[in-house]
Amino acid sequence: MSMKFRITSILKNRVLFSFCTLILLSTLVIESCSHKFVRNKEARDDQTEMEMAVSANKLITNVVFASIETEPVYSPNINDDTADDPAIWYNDEIPSKSVIFGSNKMYGIHSYNLMGEELQYIPAGTINNIDVRKNIKLGKKTVDVLVGSHRLNNTVDIYIIDSKGSIGKQADHQLPIDNFDPYGFCLFKNNKQKLFALVNNKQGIVYQMSIDLNNEGKLMSTKVNEFKLDTQVEGMVVDDENAVLYVGEEQNAIFKFELQAENNIASRGKMLKDSEDSNVNIRYDIEGLALLNSTYLLASSQGNFSYAVFDLKRDKYVTSFKIGDNTFDAVEETDGIEINTNNFGPDYPKGIMVVQDGFNFDGDIKKAQNFKIVDLRDVMNLLD
Ligand code: CA
Ligand code: CA
Ligand code: CA
Ligand code: CA
Ligand code: CA
Repeated sequence: MSMKFRITSILKNRVLFSFCTLILLSTLVIESCSHKFVRNKEARDDQTEMEMAVSANKLITNVVFASIETEPVYSPNINDDTADDPAIWYNDEIPSKSVIFGSNKMYGIHSYNLMGEELQYIPAGTINNIDVRKNIKLGKKTVDVLVGSHRLNNTVDIYIIDSKGSIGKQADHQLPIDNFDPYGFCLFKNNKQKLFALVNNKQGIVYQMSIDLNNEGKLMSTKVNEFKLDTQVEGMVVDDENAVLYVGEEQNAIFKFELQAENNIASRGKMLKDSEDSNVNIRYDIEGLALLNSTYLLASSQGNFSYAVFDLKRDKYVTSFKIGDNTFDAVEETDGIEINTNNFGPDYPKGIMVVQDGFNFDGDIKKAQNFKIVDLRDVMNLLD
């Protein structure tokens, strides 16, 4: 079934596209020409937004396809917006047994193998964004960690990943951030294998927190940096090698911050060129961010169901692409994205890209949201 048909079936149960909506739509189009159009709703909540997203999606000509999709996330109501942010744990011993983690922002954390089969479901609660780092110095040990922002708990939850890619039923450590309402989240591993949490809230405040254990194995943390952006943020990613943080203001642009040495209040962020909606291929919200090596930054452009690619070395927008309908359903309204450029075996010798899918269909049956896996070679082919 074509994406168009699937989206039509999403819309089918809603109120018909009325004359009033048409008037509203024309008003919005006129408004957007005069000044910055601010979306109040996501396509999933609003028929007009959906129509606009579908027509904007048609303008994106580069198409890749999902190689596999994960099982749906746990969600008693299939219409809920639950899956959010993927993270990848690479298995150095047996690359084909690497693990894809996915946050379920209402219920916890899932993990999947490369065939998309669920390995673990940890009902940890409202974990919004997650990230993974390997070979971190934590106390006296070197460990791999999965860390996430736990919204209702006001904590950053740290799970140690074992040699097979599993995590425990409960967080190994919790870092409280009182009254912060942690939202977007990512990790930074510096050149001394030291770990930092980058956590933001909807007010546009970003904290950089150190993560250490003392001799008794208790968690110690210090805020070493604080950044402030003008509007709501969520998606973030750190280029560890260059100690640079990228933050997306959902309805503005992507900003870059230098993560200086500890206890430095960093300077103002620098806007990535052509990351605003003056670039016709970018439709708000700007959501998940991921790095392809230190060369490219990819951003989910949620308002046209696509991904924008920026060349960081040349400070330049390169292209956009979408994930089309094929063996698996097309991908719409993506929140989190993740990329890993390791060799995952014969199926993915150059790595994988994992994205959240806002509307997951199997045939014409709607299922709870899930994650799609793309062969990174297909993305790299668009960049040559
Ligand atoms: Ca969503
Ligand atoms: Ca993430
Ligand atoms: Ca968001
Ligand atoms: Ca889909
Ligand atoms: Ca599907």
